[in-house]
Amino acid sequence: MHGVIDTERRDRVHSGFADTRAPEAWVPLRLRPRPERLRSPLSSLQGVGPAITRRLAGLGLRTFLDALHYAPRRYEAAAPQRSIAGLLAGEEAAIAGTVRGVTRRQPRRRLSLVKARVADETGEITAVWFNQPWLVDRLQPGTQVRLRGEFRRGEFTVKAYDLDGVTETADFAPVYPASEEVSVKKLREVVARVLPHAEDCWDRLPAAVKARHGLPFLADAYTALHRPRDPGEAEAGRRRLAFDELLVLQVGLLRRGRGAEELRAPELSAPGGLIDRYRAWLPFRLTPDQERAIAEIDADLRLDRPMQRLLQGDVGSGKTVVALYTLLRAAESGRQGALMAPTETLAEQHLLTVEELLRELGVRCALLTSALPAKQHAAARAAIASGEVQIAIGTHALIQEEVEFDDLAVAVVDEQHRFGVEQRQRLTEGRTPHVLHMTATPIPRTLALTVYGSLQVSEIAKPPAGRKPVVTAWIPEEKSAEAYTRLRRHLESGRQAYVVCPLVSESETLEARAAEQEAERLRRAELRGLRVGCIHGRLRPAERRDLMARFKAREVDVLVATTVIEVGVDVPNATIMIVQEADRFGLAQLHQLRGRVGRGDEQSYCLLVSRPKEELTDAARARLEALVATNDGFELAEVDLEIRGGGELLGRRQSGATDLVFTRLRADRKLLERAREEARGLLDYEGPLNDEVEARFSDEPVAA
Ligand code: ADP
Ligand code: MG
Repeated sequence: MHGVIDTERRDRVHSGFADTRAPEAWVPLRLRPRPERLRSPLSSLQGVGPAITRRLAGLGLRTFLDALHYAPRRYEAAAPQRSIAGLLAGEEAAIAGTVRGVTRRQPRRRLSLVKARVADETGEITAVWFNQPWLVDRLQPGTQVRLRGEFRRGEFTVKAYDLDGVTETADFAPVYPASEEVSVKKLREVVARVLPHAEDCWDRLPAAVKARHGLPFLADAYTALHRPRDPGEAEAGRRRLAFDELLVLQVGLLRRGRGAEELRAPELSAPGGLIDRYRAWLPFRLTPDQERAIAEIDADLRLDRPMQRLLQGDVGSGKTVVALYTLLRAAESGRQGALMAPTETLAEQHLLTVEELLRELGVRCALLTSALPAKQHAAARAAIASGEVQIAIGTHALIQEEVEFDDLAVAVVDEQHRFGVEQRQRLTEGRTPHVLHMTATPIPRTLALTVYGSLQVSEIAKPPAGRKPVVTAWIPEEKSAEAYTRLRRHLESGRQAYVVCPLVSESETLEARAAEQEAERLRRAELRGLRVGCIHGRLRPAERRDLMARFKAREVDVLVATTVIEVGVDVPNATIMIVQEADRFGLAQLHQLRGRVGRGDEQSYCLLVSRPKEELTDAARARLEALVATNDGFELAEVDLEIRGGGELLGRRQSGATDLVFTRLRADRKLLERAREEARGLLDYEGPLNDEVEARFSDEPVAA
């Protein structure tokens, strides 16, 4: 491995940023990067067959580049190298030697032992492997091995071993996020096979920028990330990759901001009679925070520059009221508004919430999602194009090319973090409406400004008065019966409830099936005699709407649900929620789920059921503890940043691949500022800055 500090050699090779000749001209043939090779499928590696290829794909690992970009969760500690004679009892250490002989035994059905005599120049020892019988063939006499493990009762219990050049025993060996199907060991093996190809990547970051910020070469960064000699190297590698992410993000933001200066949006006149009637219709007074947000929005709408405003507020803080206000401002001035939600359920839910109001106000609205039958879809499109529809509500179907608006003045993007940058952009492409982005996953204000760049930020910090914080309890599995007893008691006093099923990440179909089965089981057991509905992502839109309407009308007592209820579902009479296997959900996700209760004046409860504390990972325990401790979304966002770095907070997906993989928003504040400064200097550069990062940022739309 080359040192991270070795900048000279490749600076000569890759410094042609300002060089206007084609890259082929300035990179010597022998050293020319071959980034296309990094698109090779992992299945082209030795030892990666069809089965493992499928499992790796389950982790989002398909190409060499995916593997290079697979960030270790942490690193193993260092262990001293000992001679065999120098081993100390009870100490974790590494030894190296030659196999003298090997045996296999099967003392019990579920226990197999492989024992090898291993010798170095100081002595000989018996090394023991548990339940890896196949190793016997690979540990033939004469084989050189390096082992890491513990010397106990005269034997050496092997925890990791090196064979075939995979460095399992190294100090600071990477620990990757594994799955039940792919072990850390397998991941190490795959990454180790890919790592030599890091040389093929094209480091596009100008040499001067690297030098200014002490950043290593891209290939070195990958090597340092996956095979660091010490924690400092690992951090240097991560920092380089984080810098690329932040730079691409900042350049994108600045470019968009620059283009935006010439954009014109309709100037809307001051609020009039329709808005008065809306305010009168609301059964409550707006909170000071809502009023302030509205005032800020009104000020934006008066200008001929398109509004680009982020409305941050915790779940249940009353953002929808503000969103509707903004949409009505468009309708009032004879133009159109569009509300874009990340899922069909949420879009339908929004419609359900506003339909009655809009009818009373005489405002025409329509739903447009890709789940609509072709005929209805076409009809909705036509009504939107003719201007007959004043407020359109939908999913990203709204931004598909064939949808034309007559006169779109205001667009509201709900749960904006779930949309990709591209998708949000597409809504406004060729049109320049005022845009209000809403998020219930708040991030600290200063960070929001830096990360979202050109957006203005409004905040609803305080929920409506009289709202009682949801009481959250953490209940171990063996006591889950008590949770259901409590739930039944609530229902007896006329309330309604949610039961959230365990997360099934493989597919929505499997998740839907699991939810149906669980609902069926509950109907016969814990929830016997109650009216139980089941909602998931595989219901047909009409079924889903019908079910939600019946739940709202109290014809259904309990909604057994997948995470499709995570956003937007608003039934104030539902005051208790049980989350099964809560340890498997993310913090933001649990907070969102919990936000479905506590929406009225009644005291609400959220019961998080999980395996016993002792069996949970530290992170899972920290998440559940935080949820019990506080209801404050801003505080939880901070905790979340601590626990896992923040990439996913801003990412558009709630799980899986996200935009910022290497960045730790909090720790990387300085780096972010540096990237922001450099971004200004790179605005006019036309080419890509980091192929991989850019590909990631402009990914496919999120499935609902
Ligand atoms: P969010 O979209 O931020 O999650 P919502 O706008 O859906 O929150 O509001 C949550 C609940 O609070 C809704 O039932 C809504 O009617 C109610 N609500 C909103 N604003 C107020 C207010 N100013 N006073 C009382 N209740 C409010
Ligand atoms: Mg909402």
